[in-house]
Amino acid sequence: MSAINVDTARLPIMLTELRLPTVARLWPALTETADKESWPAARLLAALAEHEIAERAQRRIARHAIEARLPPGKTLESFDFTATPTISKARLLALAEGDAWLEKGQNVLIFGPPGVGKTHLAAALASALVDNGFRALFMRTTDLVQKMQVARQELALTALIERLDKYHLLILDDISYVQKSQAETSVLFELISARYERRSLLITANQPFGAWDAIFPDPAMTVAAIDRLVHHAVIIEVNVESFRRRSAVKRGAQPAGVSSNSASK
Ligand code: ADP
Ligand code: MG
Repeated sequence: MSAINVDTARLPIMLTELRLPTVARLWPALTETADKESWPAARLLAALAEHEIAERAQRRIARHAIEARLPPGKTLESFDFTATPTISKARLLALAEGDAWLEKGQNVLIFGPPGVGKTHLAAALASALVDNGFRALFMRTTDLVQKMQVARQELALTALIERLDKYHLLILDDISYVQKSQAETSVLFELISARYERRSLLITANQPFGAWDAIFPDPAMTVAAIDRLVHHAVIIEVNVESFRRRSAVKRGAQPAGVSSNSASK
């Protein structure tokens, strides 16, 4: 039987047009192997499709990792759980699986004084979730509130909140730095209400709930916001000495008790 004359010259162009970069890269080697080892044609086709699908998933995760805007290097692997005996590593690893709690829109609230690893934990959890195929976005709460205020002025707040829906987990880092005295903060309440029981929030705070009256415009709104947040939530309290301060002391950078590092945070 004579070989069928396939026009392989156009193959790279066609594969690019079909958006199959992995097939475009692998077909010369794989077709050669197939010819040499007399694969059935279907096996070759399946092998190419499998490679494309696997790499597509990797590319998606890489995209989501960039889009999450996580502070670099903060992972569960680099978190020293022995330094924070109140935090269960097993519990964090279970949260990192995502699934049920993200599907139900449950929240994670991390409380503790400055420098104890709240931001590190938040970023580490989000990073693990992104690796597991979820989408996350890390925001300083003050930045997000500002963005939402601008959106409200442009009558685009609902649209902005809807755009944030694509993130299974939205991190509001340092919510206690938001001050109602500085600006109109009911936008934050609108975000919390909109995500309630649908999409998860991870919030870090230096201040316990008792001090949250400083965040929201009035006490009723504060109560309503806290109510929605804690209804389905995992609360993690980190009550250890500042990791920053401890490592500074270890380095001999400053005498014990002085906390210029954490004070500046
Ligand atoms: P917070 O957000 O509570 O103020 P951070 O998460 O910013 O604290 O932690 C301060 C610094 O100390 C960061 O560089 C963080 O990576 C590090 N750190 C804090 N706790 C730990 C820990 N248990 N293991 C490793 N690094 C930690
Ligand atoms: Mg922090």
